[in-house]
Order: sequence, then C-alpha cells, then structure tokens
Amino acid sequence: MKNSEMIQRDLAHIWHPCTQMKDHESLPLVPVKRAEGVWLEDFEGNRYIDGISSWWVNLFGHANPYISAKLAEQASTLEHVLLAGFTHEPAVTLAERLCEIVPGDLNKVFFADNGSSAVEVALKMSYHAHLNNGKDRPLFLSLTNSYHGETIGALSVGDVELYKKTYEQILIRSVQTPVPKDRTYEAAEEAAEQLENILKTLSTRISALIVEPLVQCAGSMHMYHPHYLVRARELCKRYDIHLIADEIAVGFGRTGTMFACEQAGVSPDFLCLSKGLTGGYMPLAVVVTTDEMYKRFYCDYLEYKAFLHSHSYTGNPLGCSCANAVLDIFERDDVIVSNREKAEWMHEMIKPFETLSCVKEVRQTGMIAAVELEGFAPKDRVNLEIFQYCLKRGVFVRPLGSVLYFMPPYIISYEEMKQLIETAYEAVKSL
Ligand SMILES: *Cc1c(COP(=O)(O)O)cnc(C)c1O
Repeated sequence: MKNSEMIQRDLAHIWHPCTQMKDHESLPLVPVKRAEGVWLEDFEGNRYIDGISSWWVNLFGHANPYISAKLAEQASTLEHVLLAGFTHEPAVTLAERLCEIVPGDLNKVFFADNGSSAVEVALKMSYHAHLNNGKDRPLFLSLTNSYHGETIGALSVGDVELYKKTYEQILIRSVQTPVPKDRTYEAAEEAAEQLENILKTLSTRISALIVEPLVQCAGSMHMYHPHYLVRARELCKRYDIHLIADEIAVGFGRTGTMFACEQAGVSPDFLCLSKGLTGGYMPLAVVVTTDEMYKRFYCDYLEYKAFLHSHSYTGNPLGCSCANAVLDIFERDDVIVSNREKAEWMHEMIKPFETLSCVKEVRQTGMIAAVELEGFAPKDRVNLEIFQYCLKRGVFVRPLGSVLYFMPPYIISYEEMKQLIETAYEAVKSL
C-alpha cells in the first residue's frame, strides 16, 4: 500500500473536519499507518514528530504500552454498558479519582463523550440549576476570542469568527466580555472591571460565565494572567452566576499544574474535561460539579427537576479505563515535575524566534509555546507554508493562522523537541 493509494480511497468517501476539501487538490493528506511515542509514520515509512499532540489530546505518546494494555484488558472484560440504571468499575474508579484531584469541593461527575458535549452539559446544567431555583436566566457570558467547541450551544458561547459567523442566525443567546488583552496583571484587572460592568446590568439574566483558564488555545494560543480567574471567581459568586471552567484543552498538566485553575487557587462550579483525559486514546469527557449543584436536581421524579441529558456512549468503559491508566501514569511518573523541566527546555529553544523580523511575540504557558508572526495576510496562508516546509523535514505542526505553536506529548525527548522547534524555526526563517 502506498500513500497515494490511501489518499485516493480517502478522498472518494471521506469529508474531513475543519477543512476546505478543495485544498486537497494541491495539499496532500497525510496517511498515517502507525505511530509510536511522538512519531507518526506514513505508508512509505516516512516519520513525523507530532508537535501538536494530535489536536492536543495525546499526553504520553502514541501506542503507549501501558495505556494500550489497560485498554486491551478492558476490551476483553466489558466494552460497554449503558450508564443509566447501570454502573461499572472503570467509571466508578475514575469518578473517585477525579474528585480527589480536581480543585475545591467539586464532587460529582457527569459523563459525556467529547468536549463539545461536555460544554453542552455544563451550559444546560447551569441554566437548569437556576430554573430549579425559580430563576429563568436565558443568557450565557463568555470571553472574547474564546472557543468551546462546534455544536450549536458550544459554538454560541465561542467567539472565533471563522467558525461562528456562518451560523449566527441559529445560535443560542450569549454575551461576550473582553478577555485580558495580554499576560499582565493590569490587563487582568482591567478585563475584570469590564466583566463587573456587564454583570451590574445583566447578571439577573445570565446563568453562567464560561472561560478557558489561562490559555485560549483555539483562539491563537492567547494567554492571560491567573489574576483574572481570581477576580472572575469572586465576581461570579457576588452576582450569583455560575463559573464554568472549560479545561478541555488545558487540563491534565498542560499549563504546569494538573488543572489551570490551580494557578489562581480557584474552583469553578463546573469543570469540563476531555482531550487529555484519555491520553488521546478514546473519546470521553466529564463535567465535574459540586454536591450543592447536584442537590438542586435531587427530588421526587414527578417534580420534573432531573437532568435528563444523555449520550449513548456516556461513561464508556474503554474510555474510562484509558483515563484511569492516564491517572496511573501521572501518579507513577511525577509528570507535573518532569513537565516543568521540559517546559524549561522549550523556553530556551524558542528564544531564537525573537530575533526574526516577522515575529511579533513569543509566549509560553507550561507545555504550550506560541510564536505569533506579523506582516502576513490571510491569503498568504502562511500556516500552510510552515506546515508543508516542516512536514518535508519530518515534523508535524499546524499553525493557527499566523500563530505557530508547539504542544507536544509530554514524553517528548530533548533531541525530539530540538528537532521539532529547530525545523519550525527554519520554516519561519524561510518565509
Ligand atoms: C477542543 C475543545 C473543545 C471541544 O472539544 P471537542 O472534543 O473537539 O468537541 C471545547 N473547549 C476547548 C477549550 C477545546 O479546546
């Protein structure tokens, strides 16, 4: 089997996500036959470093022997059973372990099967919790430049024009408050004041504020100071609206702490997790909330207050077993500590970008580093230039517009990281 044959068969029947399919007239798909560690391998034996953890999901490498073994064991024991009226050990263990490690007093886990559906769950739960309290609050508040997924509800609270604009007429109601404009404390304070102004006039109609703590990943890796989360937490409490922390991309050690909220010492009312949850193995998501929230839905059936949301694959045992394996690795390998060391390497290695004239800013939070370019128009499609340059040299990166970023699996070695970043540096230099 050759790459070209696989590509041909693919294009005959597959409509790819997040893609203008016409691009593939000139831009070849990358058929991946197998993968190991940070390396993806195509059908002709070419290997590529996965510099973006396969859309930010992979933590401990592809075909990780430990996670694979746990998954295989689970597959031959119990592959799936519905979670309504039934339960199983992988879900119970995972829920116990998550409640141990998440911030604050979050103590009840609601399962879903992908990030967007976790966001939908959090939005619906928040609205419904207010309703069960006798309050109808039809609005959601989110940050400018935010991203929360692609389903209608999740898209509605997002603010990336590229994804949202087309569907404007069919979205649910939301209001955006400015994200801190940079990483300074002052910018965080300024944005918090703007948040308070909105809450002063609209809070009685708003169910929740949803935020991506510390890094707006799909929003071009925009980063802000933890102080904003401290202020947002305090304001949400004061104005009686819920705080939803969407840690789908930043949870599980990506920012230097297990959860990004920890850096502000705050705990949300709803915590959404997915992506890294299963180490990039299986689609799974959770919303973790408080006992207090749970109690607002707890009553006799005919009071009609139950949260009747579900997905067929809610709490899938295969996904839960991978998530438990991921938590085993976090415990066994002291991952947060070794991540800090790797983030340091990354910090040193990205410095040379600052000397390039087309580089506007270099920024980093934990294991996410971004290089923002300037002087390119959207029609230049500089992201594709960089992507192709790197791919030819065994490195896979996927810049967001003119923002190149690195978000490698945590198990990346020093040499691999050097190859990843130096190749991308050459790509930018060649523009
Ligand atoms: C990826 C992402 C989502 C959506 O998750 P999917 O599994 O792609 O639906 C939501 N929020 C954030 C912050 C994300 O990065």
